[in-house]
Amino acid sequence: MGKLYVIGIGPGGIDHMSLKAQKAIEESNIIVGYTKYIEMVKPLLQNKEIFSTGMRGEENRCKEALDLSKDNVVSLISTGDSGIYGMAGLILEMRKDEEVHVIPGITASSAAGSVVGAPLMHDNCNISLSDLMTPYEDIKKRVKLAAEGDFVISLYNPKSKGRPHYLKECIEIIKEYRKEDIPVAVVKNALREGEEATIVTLKDFNDEIVDMFSIVIVGNSKSYIKDGRFITPRGYNIRGEE
Ligand code: SAH
Repeated sequence: MGKLYVIGIGPGGIDHMSLKAQKAIEESNIIVGYTKYIEMVKPLLQNKEIFSTGMRGEENRCKEALDLSKDNVVSLISTGDSGIYGMAGLILEMRKDEEVHVIPGITASSAAGSVVGAPLMHDNCNISLSDLMTPYEDIKKRVKLAAEGDFVISLYNPKSKGRPHYLKECIEIIKEYRKEDIPVAVVKNALREGEEATIVTLKDFNDEIVDMFSIVIVGNSKSYIKDGRFITPRGYNIRGEE
């Protein structure tokens, strides 16, 4: 009787992967995942059978992992957290009687947050701008309501060739509810090779530097920049104000 680990490997480097995830990979004889993610954890994969899937669809990959897990210990890996725009949900939806364990990882917003400071200190939310499975009208509605609710907003999948204007349009929606001097961070390849981070104000935000390897974090009405760090106050009255 085998089992399936659905593993979030974190943003990239092995340094930021949990010990539990490393142990699960060690225990596995088969590793399934995108070629790019497999590369990231390659030092852990000596003597493992590897099913790297560049092109096949996600449903096929999940079905394959579930089938293999009947007689093998299998790790299905995704970046960040497997439960946040990852594979954990689909696996549990497709699962029949296979043994499945979900192992969390550091998601992109946490990784990017640590690179630029402490932007997620207060209520925050993730919104994916990918319209592959969510109609754009729903995405815009969520952006609008998150902006109105004064959440710090992390925009995942912010830009791709097929939808070059979404990010710009969503930033315009946010501007209707936020002052233009709050910080916005663009972090590309957080905590992995090729890391680049920029903090600007909402007014000066330029979507040209953003791509699919980036995440965009928009501050709430109280966020500010101190010594080059993006901070969202938790609410401690450190300035002694009434
Ligand atoms: N499961 C992943 C998210 C997958 S969606 C997680 O929890 O992080 C893919 C999107 O995540 C990318 O388009 C990008 O917006 C973001 N992303 C993933 N890793 C990132 C990283 N290291 N740096 C910046 N953004 C990242």
